[in-house]
Amino acid sequence: MKIRKRFYPRSLQDCVATAFMAAIIPITFWFEVYVVIPGVHGAESMFNWIHLGPALFLLYNVSANMLATIMCDTSSGTEIVTVPADVAVGTGLGSKSWHLCSTCEAVAPPRSWHCNTCGVCVLKRDHHCVFTGCCIGHKNHRYFILFVLHLFVATFYASILNNYFIWFVRGEEFRNWTSVVKIVFPLAMLMIDTSTRQYYLVIYLINMVGMLFTGVLLIYHGRLIISGAVVHERNSRDYNLGRLENIRMVLGEKWYLTWLTPFMGSELPHNGVNWDSVQREASKNK
Ligand SMILES: [Zn+2]
Ligand SMILES: [Zn+2]
Repeated sequence: MKIRKRFYPRSLQDCVATAFMAAIIPITFWFEVYVVIPGVHGAESMFNWIHLGPALFLLYNVSANMLATIMCDTSSGTEIVTVPADVAVGTGLGSKSWHLCSTCEAVAPPRSWHCNTCGVCVLKRDHHCVFTGCCIGHKNHRYFILFVLHLFVATFYASILNNYFIWFVRGEEFRNWTSVVKIVFPLAMLMIDTSTRQYYLVIYLINMVGMLFTGVLLIYHGRLIISGAVVHERNSRDYNLGRLENIRMVLGEKWYLTWLTPFMGSELPHNGVNWDSVQREASKNK
């Protein structure tokens, strides 16, 4: 993996969203491990230790995949971009997709697009992600989708525990109409009520919204990956090689082990530049 040179977020929107993620991940971990789990099982229970295993695994994978998404350079500068001979004379399959990027003043291969925020052409560009402050492309697509997957599992797990903790274990304090108002207007209530109870409700709400949001993202991006497309190709089947091959194209040769850790070596079967052969192969499947 080639490390991106300037990996800090560039726009205000990126800075706010990335800082939010950097804060809420450790806050949620602390809340679950030090407040909710001992609250549910009792301070001395051995279940506290049993929960610590999956909680640490999820914290590690969410943070490490997020960092890998940010650090991984997926720009067209990471590969030698040479126009194939048949494309140069205008007879190749992808001859229309090769284009000149006027900002980079360089030839850009098919499926790569310039990002104004990142300031580079990104190989097989999917989208610009504000929560990581970078573009998702050919080389960091794996880390991005596993970041979303682990985030969904983590918020789902946390939400089950949180619901039980808030509405049953501490039900006497929380099961009343004021809690509903506090959940509907969490930030406004935080101005009036700065008790720990109100902070608990804010963390609870962020996790519930996070679970729904990452669930939708997981289904949306998962379906695109399975069909071999990126966001702006969602209606095309130009690069669809069949489910397994499409998954390998994103997660690499050892796709079935990549969920364990972002450090798992899993070579991508493609360089992200020459898509003609893939397009030819895909046209046979149509
Ligand atoms: Zn460019
Ligand atoms: Zn970008």
